Amino acid sequence: MVRHRRFSTITSFRAMLANTVPSDVYHSCAYYENPDYDMDKKGWIGSDLVFDIDADHIPTSCNKIHDEFRCVKCGFCGRGITPEACPCCEATKFETKIWACDLCIQSARDETAKLLDMLENDFGFSQNEMHTFFSGHRGYHVHIEDETIRSLDAMARKEIVDYVTGLGLELLDREAQKKKGRRRDGGAKKFTLHNFGWNKRLKRGMQDFLLNTTQEDIKSVGLRNKALLENKDTIIKRAIQEGRWESIKGVSVATWLKLAEHIRENQSSKIDTVVTTDIHRLIRMNGTLHGKTGLKKIEFPTKNLQDFDPFIEAVAFKKGEVKVFVSDAPEFRLGGETLGPYKNQTITLPAAAAVMLICKRRAEVAK
Ligand SMILES: [Zn+2]
Ligand SMILES: [Zn+2]
Repeated sequence: MVRHRRFSTITSFRAMLANTVPSDVYHSCAYYENPDYDMDKKGWIGSDLVFDIDADHIPTSCNKIHDEFRCVKCGFCGRGITPEACPCCEATKFETKIWACDLCIQSARDETAKLLDMLENDFGFSQNEMHTFFSGHRGYHVHIEDETIRSLDAMARKEIVDYVTGLGLELLDREAQKKKGRRRDGGAKKFTLHNFGWNKRLKRGMQDFLLNTTQEDIKSVGLRNKALLENKDTIIKRAIQEGRWESIKGVSVATWLKLAEHIRENQSSKIDTVVTTDIHRLIRMNGTLHGKTGLKKIEFPTKNLQDFDPFIEAVAFKKGEVKVFVSDAPEFRLGGETLGPYKNQTITLPAAAAVMLICKRRAEVAK
């Protein structure tokens, strides 16, 4: 890792890239008086606000069955999500081979959509202020480069992270809780939701849940409440729209709390929290290649999130073919073609596909 570099022209920066050909290029999110000095002498001026959404941190519907891990110490290997510690020897270092499938990308896209919705509607950033990127692997980055956020310290950024992830959300009326014990009804069990931010999001989520719910869904939330399935319209009108939460027979405050908790989990955005709170963070540079895929980190208009296809638009090598020996690769989609699966075979592939498999250590250039 070569760090603490400073360039005053784009030409000198490009010359360095051409000379050293690094596999990955990052820049700091921070602004420094002296970017090339040691960390403690740089003189921090401020930082952009950055969010990283990566399928690594999201429970995906593919459950990452395409990922493999191997314990460096004892050789124990398996498929799926890499464990925290090896079940055989308890070591925590693994060699991994990970993949990015359409389900991984869609999960990351869904989490990014929730984040963008909060940044726009709750924090008031315009779509032009939010720069949205495909990360080059299996996720998205959102950068806000506005002056208003530049001087926020790590604590302030943690507050933003907590909001986005729904951490510490109070669902019971605080005033009522304070009066607990002083009132005959216990006071504490007052459930209310107001009409903005997270509360509004919970109401909307609860309404959608009730409209589409089945017995199975209710069970999966940990409820055994049949009343929620009957008279949906009345429940939505009286409880959610009019705020008369206690007026539905058979639906207690505990039920509403459980349902709200389910919606909170569902509507929170699964960002990598460490990235956003770190005011010295390095982040992949826009327009450079990801060393694990050969795909570009690339910006696209925020409003195009759903339509932007990274497996087409982030492809860097659009011409040529390469003959490779592929040890193992699942079926995949790249540059508008569907390729694979391959197992121990020599094959001529489009350059982008060959580069991707080589980067993922699943192929070698064949002689
Ligand atoms: Zn082990
Ligand atoms: Zn996947």
